[in-house]
Amino acid sequence: MTLVGVRERYQKVDAELAEVCRANGRSRSDVTLVAVSKTVGPDAVADALEGGAHDFGENRPDGLMQKADLYPQAAWHFIGNIQSRRIHDIVGRATLIHSLFSEHHARKIDQVAGERGLVQDVLIEVNVSGEESKSGLAPADVPAFLALCENLPHLRVRGLMTMAPQGDLEVARQTFEGLAQLEEQLRATLAPDRAETFTELSMGMSEDWREAVAAGATIVRIGRAIFSDTFEE
Ligand SMILES: *Cc1c(COP(=O)(O)O)cnc(C)c1O
Repeated sequence: MTLVGVRERYQKVDAELAEVCRANGRSRSDVTLVAVSKTVGPDAVADALEGGAHDFGENRPDGLMQKADLYPQAAWHFIGNIQSRRIHDIVGRATLIHSLFSEHHARKIDQVAGERGLVQDVLIEVNVSGEESKSGLAPADVPAFLALCENLPHLRVRGLMTMAPQGDLEVARQTFEGLAQLEEQLRATLAPDRAETFTELSMGMSEDWREAVAAGATIVRIGRAIFSDTFEE
């Protein structure tokens, strides 16, 4: 076994992402690579930064606070379960919250962002596949939820996020295409200036990001392929 570090793995994923973008007629600059650092400590984040990483993902407020405060030069994405009482720790620190699907949380984020005089960028999490273990709104419920969010002045919905079922890349591909279609339908309902800022599709993880890029992902969230030395495809 050769010893390959975080820096090298980040660069390998980054290079392959450029290739997959090219193969799909897309530009590398159209896709943000979020290095999901939820399982590792600050040292591994430093290694990834050295490898050229700029965007990181955390799924717990404590990890977000610790690492975002240590590395404010990076962009920090919140990709985990939102809890009401921790919203004040996430708002403002997170460049983008990927996992919004409750009205209560939308109102609270809007309120906290308003108190701080900022607008919080968010994505709506959608359970495209309908798997019970997955969180997110059913696709049919997204239009009404988006309309509600559009009335909250300190919340800006930038697009949609989903997680595909694991283990079958064909099912993953269908899931990602479903999210892309839903986003297109929703964008058509928005005023032109607003549609311009409703463009993000956060989809694809270590095993299925290639399918996500082919389906139009603008953000991929990759953890193990970068941070785990035992990850194998
Ligand atoms: C952990 C996590 C990821 C990264 O998953 P890997 O399989 O490690 O690449 C992506 N998105 C979310 C929401 C996660 O919780």
